[in-house]
Parts: sequence; C-alpha cells; structure tokens
Amino acid sequence: MFDRILIANRGEIACRVIETAQRLGVSTVAVYSDADAGAKHVAMADQAVHIGAAPPSESYLRGERIIAAALQTGAQAIHPGYGFLSENPGFVEAVVAAGLVFIGPSADAIRKMGLKDAAKDLMAAAGVPVVPGYQGADQDAGVLAQAAEKIGYPVLIKAVAGGGGKGMRRVDRAEDFAGSLASCRAEAKGAFGNDAVLIETYIEAPRHIEVQIFGDGRRAVHLFERDCSLQRRHQKVIEEAPAPGMTDVMRQAMGDAAVRAAETIGYSGAGTVEFIVDARDGLRADRFWFMEMNTRLQVEHPVTECITGVDLVAWQLRVASGEDLPARQEDLQLSGHAFEARLYAEDVAAGFLPATGRLAHLAFPMGVRADSGVRSGDVISPHYDPMIAKLIVHGPTRAIALRQLSRALAQCQVAGTVTNLAFLGALAGHEGFARAEVDTGLIARDLEALTELAEVSAQVVAQAALVAAGLERMTGAGVGFALWAPLRRTILLGFGGAELSVVLMSRGPDLCEVELVDGLVRAERIDGRWRFDGMAGHAAFQEGDMVTVFADYGRAFRIIDPLERAAGGAPEAGTLIAAPMPGLVRDVFATVGQEVKSGDRLAVLEAMKMEHALVAVRDGVVAEVLVAAGDQVDAGAVLIRLEEPEDAA
Ligand code: ADP
Repeated sequence: MFDRILIANRGEIACRVIETAQRLGVSTVAVYSDADAGAKHVAMADQAVHIGAAPPSESYLRGERIIAAALQTGAQAIHPGYGFLSENPGFVEAVVAAGLVFIGPSADAIRKMGLKDAAKDLMAAAGVPVVPGYQGADQDAGVLAQAAEKIGYPVLIKAVAGGGGKGMRRVDRAEDFAGSLASCRAEAKGAFGNDAVLIETYIEAPRHIEVQIFGDGRRAVHLFERDCSLQRRHQKVIEEAPAPGMTDVMRQAMGDAAVRAAETIGYSGAGTVEFIVDARDGLRADRFWFMEMNTRLQVEHPVTECITGVDLVAWQLRVASGEDLPARQEDLQLSGHAFEARLYAEDVAAGFLPATGRLAHLAFPMGVRADSGVRSGDVISPHYDPMIAKLIVHGPTRAIALRQLSRALAQCQVAGTVTNLAFLGALAGHEGFARAEVDTGLIARDLEALTELAEVSAQVVAQAALVAAGLERMTGAGVGFALWAPLRRTILLGFGGAELSVVLMSRGPDLCEVELVDGLVRAERIDGRWRFDGMAGHAAFQEGDMVTVFADYGRAFRIIDPLERAAGGAPEAGTLIAAPMPGLVRDVFATVGQEVKSGDRLAVLEAMKMEHALVAVRDGVVAEVLVAAGDQVDAGAVLIRLEEPEDAA
C-alpha cells in the first residue's frame, strides 16, 4: 500500500477519497486553487499544495503543477477523482513518466474508450452489443444524412468526444437533419474541440443501466448494475442499485458483456460500462446495447458500495499499489437497495440555473450517507460544479429505501442558497417512480408537476416572522416578550417576488397572535417550543436578514428593513419619517394619499415619558403609513413614507 497519495481534485470526491485513504492509514495531499484555500478537502488532508487561480484551466486542469506538487510532497500516487484530469491519457502518461502511479486505468485503456465511435467499434468486435448506427470516419454531411435515413428516424446525433450530456441531438425528421447536425457540431467543437459525430438509432423511452466493473489489468469482475434512468437533459438526477425489475438472466448477460469490455482493453481499476436498454416489454437480455465506458470512478458509485459492501476507493488504492483483485465474481453478493440523490445549488424555477452563494447553514439527517465537499459557511463558487452533496440511502427493499430517501430529503437543512431539494423530494414521491416505471423521459414528461412549488403555509410565514422578531431565540421560563419587547410589531418579509406584511401581537409571555394578510395564526410556546395553530414549529435558521424555515425543503424569507424598502435606493432627505427613539405610537394623523406641508404633524410618539410630535420636514404626499396608534417601535423604525406629489399614482 502507498504511504502517501495526492488527490488531483476538489469537492466531495476529493473528500471521499481522503476518507478512505485515512482509514487505510495512507497520508493524503490535497491540491487547491485560490478559491479553495479554505475548502473542506484542504482541511481534511494531511497536507495541501496551492496550484493556481480559481478557473480550472489555471489549477485543477494543470497536470504539470499537480505532478510537481506530488513530487514535492513525496506522494507516490495520484488519485484523479472524476472530471478534471480523470480521463486524460496525456496526464496519465505524464504521471507515469514522473515515476508516480496513476490510480486508475492505463493511458491506452482510456484512449480506447475515449471516443465513442472507436469504442463502439472495439466493443462490437469483442462481441458486446452496441447501439445500431453509423460511426464511420467519413463525416460528410450528405453521408451522415444518408446514414440517418438508413438507420431510420428518430435518430440521435452524438459527438464522438461528447460527455456530460453535451453534444447530442435527437432528430425526428429528415428535413431537420442538416440543421441539427450543424448545431451539434458547433456545440461539440466548442465543448470538446472535436466536431466528429456518430449517428445512432434513437431508442424511445429507454432506460440507462450501467454496470460497475473493476479490473486489475488482467481480470475483471462486475459489481452489478445501477439504474440511472432518472435524468434531466441527459444528466443523472437520482440513481439506484440494483435496477428495478432486473432478472438474473439479464444481469448475467449485462455483467458478462461489461466484464468482456473491461478485459478486452486490459482494464485496471474502477470503471463503468454504460448500456441503453429498451424496456418497453420489460427487461430482456437481447435489448441492451453498449453506449460508452467511463474509465474512472463515477459520481454514483456509492449506491454500488451500499449494495455490495465494497469500498471502491479502497479497491482502487489496493489494486493501484499492486494487489490482485480483492474479490472473485462469486464472492460478490448483492444486498438490499440503494438510492443516491444529487443535491445542487440550483434555481429550479429559473430552469435549473446553477446558483452560487454562501451556505449559511448545512446539516444532513442522521443515519444517511451524505458525501459532501462543503460545510456550513462554505461558498458555492461559480468556478465549479454547484453540487452541495450526494445523499445516499440503503434499505432492505426498494420501497423502504425510497421512503428513507424521501425522509432524508425532507430533513436536509440548507440555508444561504437555493437548491433542488424540493425537486428531488417531488421525484422521490413520484408515483410512477415508486412503481419503478422509470425511463429517461420521466422527468421531462412530468416536469411541471415536479417543479411546482407548494404554497407556503400561514404557519410557516408566522414562524419566519417570529424568528425575524427574535422571539424564537428567547428561551427559558418567564422570558415573555411582553415584558420588554413591543406589544405589537410589524415585520416585513420578502418571499419569492412577494412582500408579506406580518403583525405580531403579544398576548402574554408564551402566546402571540400572528396576523397575515389572509388570516390569523396562533403561536403558543409549550415546554419551551413554539407551536403554530397547534402544530410544532420547524427547525429554523437566521443569518443577517435571511430567515430559513426548514419546512417544505426550506423556505427562505428576507427580512425587509422598512428604511431600505421605502427607499428603493438611498432615500431622499425628508421622505422617511422615522422614530428617533424607541417608543409607543400614540397617534397617527397621516393617511395614505394625503397631501402634507412642511411642518404638519404626522404622528405622535410617546417615549421616555414624553410626547414627541413627528412633523413633515418637506411638502409631499403620504405614500405609506407603516404603523398604527398603539404600536411599539424601535429606534429608526420608519413610521411614514412620503413621496413627491408627481410620484403619486
Ligand atoms: P454522455 O457521454 O454525454 O453522458 P451518453 O452516451 O452516456 O452521453 O448518453 C447520455 C444519455 O443520453 C443516456 O443516459 C441516455 O439517456 C441518452 N441516450 C444516449 N444514447 C441514446 C440513444 N441511442 N437513444 C436514446 N437515448 C440515448
């Protein structure tokens, strides 16, 4: 076994590798960019080396710097993780040339599987079924169109160098072929620097089933299959193992094909052979075809670890350090069912736009495997993948594991950024998915229902207002806010695009009536815990002006400062009438729409046993009255907002 390895990656996969290395007593070296100096993977590793600026092209993709870091720290081997340099044969050669071990396959094996067309040819020659189509060297548009005609529409145009779901176009009609080909080529050229394509028959409503293999350069075994059919735009969202409905015959056929694929190229380490499956008549041993092989550890490898009990990273380190395959095929057993959900910082409502931000709070439920590269306080930077974590559950049956997944998602606490939690929760609760009716089109078909946001409940808004007012934090007997806090207080909350005005009315030390636009919520503290209309409050988190109530996968509210709200920028002098000190509003004379002159009395504030008249310091029209007689207000609280006469509607 190695004494020390370097992990040429960041985020959750770097942390994942470091964890296993530590368990095996292997010392670890992290590398990091400017953006990651304080990252979790750096904190976890025994040593860390700075390798450049935040953009991957200036750090995590700089093979020469990474190799130099390994040599400088005395690391014997480099683990590439996934992404970045993990499938770059040139990097593998450079690592080996530097006298280091690459924890993964040979450059030759990576090259053989690197381009989809060559890989398909190789696999077909080895007797592995491949998706019918054209993968010739002649890339003339006319030749390709003819090939599409021969295959029969619909067809799929695929960039031979494609990956990550990019560089693919489905074409339904001959008249659309030329246009789709041009756009696919342009995308492939931009993303992969290679615009060669292949044409395949498009399989309707297919399933994506992949087989985990592991080789030692001579022999290979498979560790059963994963079903990754739940995809959005060809990107995996929830993965599971084993594949629902898998039969022994089909598993044997797919496993054999995958092992043959691996042994054909003398594969060493962990790899995945991806198949597309036509499951219209159930899973049949003659209806699966090789799509591609990923010559690295996959994001979704944990579900395989759950059902086999194998630590794939431990196997990677053992085999790379010269050990034989740790198990024979007959030693490998499949147990139970596992799911993995990919939690991302992304704005689902805005079309799954990657989001950034500081994770003000991050907590995962107990009893769930959460592979994560970030902690509370960490930043999701725009430079890298916005993944927050992978949540992995393992149960004795699929139904139980799915319930565990639902529960785990509901109990995740993320504050500080938008996430796809609610979307994942909706998927985990999807009836077709529960019945294992999965195919790659499921998400697209039901996207609207899956992304529909449940309305926020009055009780959750009431809780957010209580948190905003600081009342939730006050604990212990007798800390009634009536003693010293205002009796009646208006809280303004921004939620989505809306602005909610919430009035808190104290009715005693442990009782508060919360008035919303459309009703009243009774908040009562029993045994130190607030209940809202009799229902227990949720966990909640506040930082700065953001309050997150961990209900419905997290509801975030922004506390609106009336000053800022009234202003919409820097307020013009004299437009805001604010309380000069904390006090009780005795009287309000102003009404909305009223024209006032400089010097007019607008309200009376009682403070420090005196009455203070609040007067207009300029002419204007009353735009808003934010308080009523009887309100307690803090110093600086805006009571009335004026606007120019011509601004008035
Ligand atoms: P990438 O390398 O970009 O991940 P893949 O070849 O693995 O591309 O394909 C990604 C996804 O695209 C598959 O999981 C599947 O959902 C879909 N797909 C690929 N080939 C076909 C096909 N011939 N017919 C229908 N869908 C396909």
